[in-house]
Amino acid sequence: MVEVMAFSSSARTTERGGGVVEVCEEAAAPYALTRRALARNLLVGAGVAPFASRLAHGQESGKKIRYCIVGLGRISLGHFMPACKASQKSEVVALVSGHRDKAEKYAAEYNVPAKNIYDYKNYDDIAGNKDIDAVYIALPNSMHAEYTIRAANADKHVLCEKPMATSLRDSQAMINSCRAANRKLMIAYRCQYESTNLRAIQLIRDGKLGKIQAIESANGFVEKAGEWRLNRKLAGGGPLMDVGVYSLNACRFLTGEEPAHFDATCSVIDKDGRFSEVEENLAWTMRFPSGIVASCNTTYGASMPGFVRVHGSLGMLHLEPAFSYEGIRFTAKVQGEPPIEEANPNKDPAQFVSEADHFAYCILNDKEPKSNGEEGLRDMQHMVNIYKACGRTL
Ligand code: NAD
Repeated sequence: MVEVMAFSSSARTTERGGGVVEVCEEAAAPYALTRRALARNLLVGAGVAPFASRLAHGQESGKKIRYCIVGLGRISLGHFMPACKASQKSEVVALVSGHRDKAEKYAAEYNVPAKNIYDYKNYDDIAGNKDIDAVYIALPNSMHAEYTIRAANADKHVLCEKPMATSLRDSQAMINSCRAANRKLMIAYRCQYESTNLRAIQLIRDGKLGKIQAIESANGFVEKAGEWRLNRKLAGGGPLMDVGVYSLNACRFLTGEEPAHFDATCSVIDKDGRFSEVEENLAWTMRFPSGIVASCNTTYGASMPGFVRVHGSLGMLHLEPAFSYEGIRFTAKVQGEPPIEEANPNKDPAQFVSEADHFAYCILNDKEPKSNGEEGLRDMQHMVNIYKACGRTL
């Protein structure tokens, strides 16, 4: 059992239930979406107000954020790079890969000139390349910090995949480097820009569900042997770091609160060698300062559809699938009102377009990204506490 006292704005150590929990200064600010910010994000995420959205993203300027893609794996090739093609605000102009052949193949598809193909050794040379505004980092988790810091030192903005890093120290170093270089840092929490998730937040903030009492959430899949996700050095941890973080992040953005108390347990059922370094299953509960309780599960041993159910004194809402690349679906039952049922009709990579458009808006208008480094660090701090409650370290 790990309990974290109410957050304040200073770093400190608390002791509860036998566990000493470092509360990072940067992790201390409460998560909050103001009504105005929420309304703006709803417009942007849903694409329901084309003119407002165009203005909000500075599209009238015609400027695009020109990305160097770092790591040509599944998320880059299958989702983010196609999103750049679909976006009016983003463009792929450079690639970083350890495989020259692969890089040349995708360079041809994205019209990337040979001079803009880098490898992991000469990556720092992006500093002198005026074609590049920002990097998108889609490497194994433990490499996020190094490639973010090197990008900041090269004077580039950074959009980094989740989870932010594999330690609090690395996460803080990423924030510090980007701040020192006056570059934006955004963590790629795509659900925070997805219209159905935003509708769910709005319903809760409007009080339609009454007082929120409890949240249930889960997210998992079957991981194959040989994947870097099973290597603790590269991944940091198991399914909690990879897909459980979606449930954690959703509980936070739906409640608008930071969890203050954690219980957790983890297990390995399949003794086939895959889980010698990371957990296979992890279940955790959280209590928020208002008293809201959440129970979450994550696994690498079962195909577990991502969902979130929120129960309030006046009704409940159910997001399922909640975290997939498309088809996010939302139903709600509110006392005295007809049932609500909505699905996001937009196809993949629409979520990545919304995410990239938000980052472009922030860069072009000198605004702080909604899912900035501090937001990523807060999840990291909570995951440290969840692992601690399991008797493990991150
Ligand atoms: P992947 O294995 O498909 O790609 C990883 C890339 O890193 C590959 O190009 C690989 O060559 C490169 N790489 C460089 N050094 C490596 C090393 N030592 N070991 C392994 N690969 C190395 O992984 P992925 O699924 O694309 O995930 C990449 C990142 O994106 C992870 O942080 C993951 O959590 C995140 N991700 C986010 C989402 C999302 O929806 N936002 C979805 C999937 C993955």
